[in-house]
Amino acid sequence: MQLKSIEIIGFKSFADKTRINFPRGMTGIVGPNGSGKSNIAEAIRWVMGEQSAKNLRGTKMPDVIFSGSADRHSLGMASVILRLDNHDHYVDSPFDELLVARKLFRNGDSAYFINDKQCRLKDVNNLFMDTGIGQGSLSIISQGNVEEIINSKPIERRSIIENVAGVYKYKQHKLTAQKE
Ligand code: ATP
Ligand code: MG
Repeated sequence: MQLKSIEIIGFKSFADKTRINFPRGMTGIVGPNGSGKSNIAEAIRWVMGEQSAKNLRGTKMPDVIFSGSADRHSLGMASVILRLDNHDHYVDSPFDELLVARKLFRNGDSAYFINDKQCRLKDVNNLFMDTGIGQGSLSIISQGNVEEIINSKPIERRSIIENVAGVYKYKQHKLTAQKE
């Protein structure tokens, strides 16, 4: 599985359609303070289902929509599309290439898509569950995360380990089955 590219429109500082390709190997993103480096990492977290505006340095979700600048009007919609190479079927899906997209409008309407088909947040969560790359995973470590892990309670730390080990999915299935 490999992150191939991300396309961002109207998300945070990216007013214009911006596509960033991630070729094989390591990619470094460099730029002056405030140029949008962290916004790229946040766009990746957002499209994978991040639900907390606070984790995206905002107070409410529509804060992620481009809010205008000295010479540009604000926009009405944010859209992010993530392209993943899934030839090795690391992500449990029959598709060799996965396109995961999320859209949000100022009125709060939002939608998720997997390979151009509209789906629920739950489907996006299921897709990434136990892959180590989804919502709340440790594949993206933001400023402050390291201290958070070090200071977390044993039970929280256990859930991190369960997630990394891949047993979290089965615990969730068990809980659902017990409720039914
Ligand atoms: P640093 O090197 O300081 O970490 P950075 O490159 O990570 O900087 P970001 O934090 O990604 O920079 O980008 C911050 C910029 O994004 C700020 O200029 C801020 O005004 C802009 N920004 C954030 N949200 C929005 C929004 N909704 N609309 C327009 N611009 C936004
Ligand atoms: Mg930053």
